[in-house]
Order: sequence, then structure tokens, then C-alpha cells
Amino acid sequence: MSNPEQIKTDVLVVGGGNAALCAAMTAREAGAKVLLLESAPKDFRGGNSRHTRNIRYLHHRGNDCLTGPYLEDEFWEDLLQVTGGQTHAQLARLTIRESADIGQWMNAHGCHFQPPLRGTLHLARTNAHFLGGGKALMNAYYATAGKLGVEIMYEADVRDLEIRDGKFEAAIFEFEGASQKVRAKSVVVASGGFQANLTWLKECWGEAADNFIIRGSPYDRGRPLRVLLDHGAKPVGDPRQCHAVAIDARAPKFDGGIVTRLDCVSFGIVVNKNARRFYDEGEDFWPKRYAIWGRLVAHQPDQIAFSILDSKSIDLFMPSVFPPVEADTIGELATKLELDPTALEAVVTEFNKSIRPGTFDPSILDDCATKALEPPKSHWARPLDTPPFYGYPLRPGITFTYLGITVNAKAQVIMQDGQAAPNIHAAGEIMAGNILGQGYMAGFGLTIGTVFGRIAGKEAARFAIDGFA
Ligand SMILES: Cc1cc2nc3c(=O)[nH]c(=O)nc-3n(C[C@H](O)[C@H](O)[C@H](O)COP(=O)(O)OP(=O)(O)OC[C@H]3O[C@@H](n4cnc5c(N)ncnc54)[C@H](O)[C@@H]3O)c2cc1C
Repeated sequence: MSNPEQIKTDVLVVGGGNAALCAAMTAREAGAKVLLLESAPKDFRGGNSRHTRNIRYLHHRGNDCLTGPYLEDEFWEDLLQVTGGQTHAQLARLTIRESADIGQWMNAHGCHFQPPLRGTLHLARTNAHFLGGGKALMNAYYATAGKLGVEIMYEADVRDLEIRDGKFEAAIFEFEGASQKVRAKSVVVASGGFQANLTWLKECWGEAADNFIIRGSPYDRGRPLRVLLDHGAKPVGDPRQCHAVAIDARAPKFDGGIVTRLDCVSFGIVVNKNARRFYDEGEDFWPKRYAIWGRLVAHQPDQIAFSILDSKSIDLFMPSVFPPVEADTIGELATKLELDPTALEAVVTEFNKSIRPGTFDPSILDDCATKALEPPKSHWARPLDTPPFYGYPLRPGITFTYLGITVNAKAQVIMQDGQAAPNIHAAGEIMAGNILGQGYMAGFGLTIGTVFGRIAGKEAARFAIDGFA
């Protein structure tokens, strides 16, 4: 890249996570010259994709890494359930069908899978887990992309796209302290959501956003998304919607990943900073409910809550990277958590008294429930009476935002007038809102990114080589 003004390529890929790499490798394999611009430094490359662990895909039989079949109808029903039907049926069906045996393609591009895992999320049949997690997956993809001849620039932050009459011409990016331009015949924008853009989050959520923790990459600031919207791309998804889980409040502001997630909520009670309970902690199994708790905590005063447990439950869940706050009495625990001791003691006493006898069993929706308590605790309600007592502070942990760009089945960006931009493609989180109008399904973010990354790469290469979409 000695003379930056002369940078020219066939296919430009904006972003350096899963969707970007799938697009870049596919476009290169189709014969196009490909340049990938990743805003993060090399050590932090891979966006949110480097925090992932598993991918969900259609398969007709079990194999070394999946315990049984997962067919189209079941996949579709699962998607309808989590989205409440808010999905673009054609694109969703396409995603499911095109995911068939994706594991083989991933293998061929350097990914290694591990044998099925037992764990809190019960995904052994539907989702394949990568050996070494998302970081290893990204390293493998970067190595393969490099071998294929994809050119990669790190710390290359795309600031603008030159689009004339709905057609992409060039991108402007910051590199080594200077503004540079790259001309390309087509572009794939795969720059993720805008969850790391604290100003944008604040526009949507107000002051509350100051207390959000971003679980993933600080480089997913949504600049290319904003640029596309400003150029007239048709938005999809609610700007205020995001995937948020309850995580340990002591997690770093960015990039804490999965180890800061807390799975203890259903085994105790959760109170806000006024020591008041605010939701049924035992409504359903935790994997089905963990994604609503980020939002619940976001609506509490100062966006903080506390999970309170006793020693009967402390070994029932995967521990967070931070140890719990521990005390011999509820009052002492309250003081350590900076809660009003009298108020917390009163809540615990009322909770303990409301529990009707049952047989505790964390593997089923058991009959241990409260009676005449508001809000109720519907399952796994046991008195908090056995010291030591434990507390974990909780904050909303934002996984990704939902606002994105409308695309068609060729991964082409749809403009406000309904026309498809012939040489502008989008893949991954930036267009996931077409398929996930609300809710989330474990391992499906990568499915969307892999399927649409490959489609975008193929179509962008076709346009670059043949000159038409
Ligand atoms: C903790 C955690 C765990 C997760 N676990 C899973 C899981 O197990 N399975 C699953 O399917 N999903 C999981 N997800 C969701 C998953 O990470 C996303 O759905 C997926 O990684 C999105 O891929 P992407 O390529 O669209 O975006 P990303 O991987 O976020 O990549 C976006 C890329 O764009 C780059 N970029 C941004 N702006 C610019 C710019 N202006 N110029 C150049 N580059 C730019 C970023 O640096 C980054 O490289 C998890 C998310 C988190 C946070």
C-alpha cells in the first residue's frame, strides 16, 4: 500500500469479524481481488465474533460434534418462537437452508470443532462448538484468508462511502493518521452493530446508557451503518432494541466476553438498589430467560441490581470470573452491597415466609414456588436461611444492537426508494435485524453472518468480475 491514492481493488470488505471474513474468503475464491479493512489493531481483530463459542446450523444427522439431527421445520419453529414472528420469512428460510452442513465449509476454512458439550445452555444437538472458541475461529479464518490472497489492513477505520446514484464508488478510511481512499468495484459492509458507540446508545436510551456494559468489541461503533443510513439505505429494526443480559457489574466497560455473565438469578432473589424485588426470578429455565434480565436491570434505578443467594445454591451455577460478596447474615451482606440492611432483611423474611413446600429440582420446572407474593417466584423458591449468604451485583450487558440495514436475498442493500444497490452488500450483525426482528437464539448470530457473508462475497465478486448484479 505504498501509494494510498492509488488503492484499487475488485471487492472491498469493511469489517474484520466473522461475516467480513466469510465474504472476503468467498469473493477471493470466486476470483476477485479483495481488500479487507479492519478498524481494530491486529491483536483485537475479529469484533464480537472473537467472543463466540458455537454456531447453530441445519443438519440431517448427528456427527462428531452434534448429538443428533436439526431439521428445517424445527429450526424455523425455534426462530418463530424467539422472534414472535417478527422475521422476514424469505430471508429467514434462506438463512436456515443455506446453513445446511455449514460445519463442513467452516472445517475447510480452518475451523476445528470439539465434541458435544454438556452445559447450562443445552445446545449439544443444535449447535457446534469450536475448539478454542471464537478467538481460534478468527485466527483460523485470518490465516486462511491470508493464504488465499486476501489483502488485510488493520487499524483502518472506514469513515465514509462514496455512493453515486445508488452505486458504490470508493471508501474513505483513516490509516496511520491520514485519510485515504480506496476505489472498488463492489463493497461488502460487515462492520457489526453500534453497541460500542456510547453517544449513539445514549441517543436511544438517555442517561441510563452510562451504566451499560458492552460485552464485546470497543471497535463496533457503527460508523459504516450510520454512513449507509445517511446515504439513504433503508433501516431495519428498532434503534432502542438490543440484546442485553445480566452480567457482573464489576466487568470491564468493554470486551469482558462470556466470563462476566451470571447464571445465578433463578436460584435466589434479585433486588434493586432500594432492596425491592421486581420480577419473577424463577419464571422459566435460565437459558430461556437470561436475555430478558439485561433489559429488566436497565429499567431499575441507576441500572443496578443484586442477586442474593445462600449457601444451598452457590454451587448450582457456573461461577462468574468475580467472586461473590459473602457475609454471615443478610444484614451484613446488605451493608457490604451498600443496600439498606433493614429493607433487605424485610424482603428476605417476606420471601421466606411465602414459600410453599415443594421438592427442589433445578433440572425441571419444579413445584417450589411462592404464594401470595408480588412478584411471585414460580420455581426453585427455597428460603434464604443457610449462611453464608452471597450477593452478585448485576448490570445490563449489551451484546449487540438491532438497528440495521435492509437487504435482499443477494445481500444487496435496499435503499429508501425500494431499489437494490447493485454493488453494495451487507452481511452479519449490520443486517441481522431482517431476520431477528426481536429476541435471539443462541448461535444464530454466526449463522446469519456466515450465510450472508458467503452470499455477499459471491455476489460482490460476480459484480466485480462480470460487471452486473
Ligand atoms: C460475549 C459474546 C458472546 C457471543 N457468543 C456467540 C456465540 O457463541 N454464537 C453466535 O452465533 N453469536 C454469539 N455472539 C454474537 C456474535 O458475536 C455476533 O452475532 C457476530 O459475531 C457478528 O459478526 P459480525 O461479523 O457481523 O460482527 P463483528 O464480529 O462484531 O465484526 C465487526 C467488525 O467490523 C469492524 N469495524 C467496525 N467499524 C469499522 C469501521 N468503521 N471500519 C473498519 N472496520 C470496522 C470491527 O472492528 C469488527 O472487526 C456473541 C456476542 C458476544 C458479545
